[in-house]
Amino acid sequence: MAAGGAVPQSPVAGTPVAEGEAVVDSVVRAVRQAGGRATVALRCIVAALAGAQAHRSAEELAAVVRSQYPEVNESTVYRALERLEDLGVAYHVHLGHGPAQWHLVAQRSHQHLACRRCGRVVEVDRELFEPLVRQLADNYGFQADIGHFAVTGTCAGCAGRPAAGGARWRPPTSQPPLAR
Ligand SMILES: [Zn+2]
Ligand SMILES: [Zn+2]
Ligand SMILES: [Zn+2]
Repeated sequence: MAAGGAVPQSPVAGTPVAEGEAVVDSVVRAVRQAGGRATVALRCIVAALAGAQAHRSAEELAAVVRSQYPEVNESTVYRALERLEDLGVAYHVHLGHGPAQWHLVAQRSHQHLACRRCGRVVEVDRELFEPLVRQLADNYGFQADIGHFAVTGTCAGCAGRPAAGGARWRPPTSQPPLAR
């Protein structure tokens, strides 16, 4: 993956996606404004996230950083990710039972629908969930962080098909399948 290359168009209609370099610069600025240090590892992670064509786990990000800076160890990458999250410039999402996937807040614009059968992840407009978020706040005083987990279910392609093996995120075998 080419860090610094053009970021793909956001799947969310009308959402402009900044070029990778501009995103990296703005995130590094945000880190410094928050009193953080923009280390080499941190900059490299941000560049990898900004240029990512797909979701990235911490492990994948560590591999990207280490391919460029072999002297940076994995735990440094994980700590840098935590720092980015504490500073409010990156966040993680759980798409299923696999490892969490990382995003830059600057590029945050979608909610995830994760198919339990084929593992496909569909990105949809977050505004779809606004009525639910509002009602949870109004009726229960609950501030929902709706983006922290994907909505899991069955995608259009898998609907009506029997569950097959090969799904990326299988429920633990001790757990019975959800009743329909
Ligand atoms: Zn995403
Ligand atoms: Zn989490
Ligand atoms: Zn599917």
